[in-house]
Amino acid sequence: MKAVHTELHRSHDPQFFLVRGVVKRTTEQPERADRLLKGLKDGKHQLVEPTKFGQGPRARIHSPEYLSFLSEAWEAWTALGDSGPEMIGNIHPVRHAATYPTHIVGKLGWHTADTAAPIGPGTWAAACAATDVAVTAAQMVMDGEDAVYALCRPPGHHAYRDMAGGFCFLNNSAIAAAHLRQKHERVVILDVDVHHGNGTQGIFYARPDVYTISIHADPVAYYPYVWGYAHERGEGAGLGANLNIPLAIGTGDDGYIQAMEVARKAIESFAPGALVIALGLDASEHDPLKGLAVTTPGFRRIGQAIAKLGLPTVFVQEGGYLSDILGANLTSVLAGFEEAR
Ligand code: ZN
Repeated sequence: MKAVHTELHRSHDPQFFLVRGVVKRTTEQPERADRLLKGLKDGKHQLVEPTKFGQGPRARIHSPEYLSFLSEAWEAWTALGDSGPEMIGNIHPVRHAATYPTHIVGKLGWHTADTAAPIGPGTWAAACAATDVAVTAAQMVMDGEDAVYALCRPPGHHAYRDMAGGFCFLNNSAIAAAHLRQKHERVVILDVDVHHGNGTQGIFYARPDVYTISIHADPVAYYPYVWGYAHERGEGAGLGANLNIPLAIGTGDDGYIQAMEVARKAIESFAPGALVIALGLDASEHDPLKGLAVTTPGFRRIGQAIAKLGLPTVFVQEGGYLSDILGANLTSVLAGFEEAR
């Protein structure tokens, strides 16, 4: 399988985030991509550099205010004179009627869902490079490749139309799906990250043409806590085009494969032309958070189940944080896909 990758992600090197009132070192570090790259090399996948598609694909998904905010944020932040080494909001006016602010601190709160999306000097450049990686992979599939993997960093599935969160800024999976929509009337995004793909759900919630499905640890006890429940099914024209499959913490391989079977039936009845896999690897038993306890052979079975859907497929890297098994799990899911194709 061809795999799209660029070193430009390195400019995004977040140092800390705030979780449960504790300042911690972020695990979404450049080294993640090195470990994933090793997984690609071990699987003998062919590396491809991305094409620059510019702002167009990003603007299909994200609002003009949000893209302006992200592109200008660091300069405005450092001009404050008394600001910290990374941008983390101290207000979050997300639930009630409010006025769009002009001050950078107000905008930062407006455009972030949580305290886990620190913005640094190279965040915008890296986030843009990641969207080019995703769109390049989608374009290759539109041009006839059966399946392509996009090594996107920073990840994207927690990013909404106008809001960052959970280490995500620009929604690479959503941008890939919107690109595929130029060729296919209906596209599915199947999110297998251990965390609910809340940003992706939010972006397409009222749309009938992109079916969003997420298999994840039950938000009753897991990030993002306020999204990801089974009763969230879409709204308006998009009602019925969102499927959440929350699983109990520690579910394991067999339970996960049963959830894939539920997803398969839903996908077959939707009859899409193409598939985006939001490929988190943090359902692993060795992930620092240990949400769904999937083994490395279990990831192979997940890859096989994806292959059997029989659709042109874009794999977009989402989560999966620093652990020794990260690269092996990527090798495993892609090997499972290729052997079952
Ligand atoms: Zn995740």
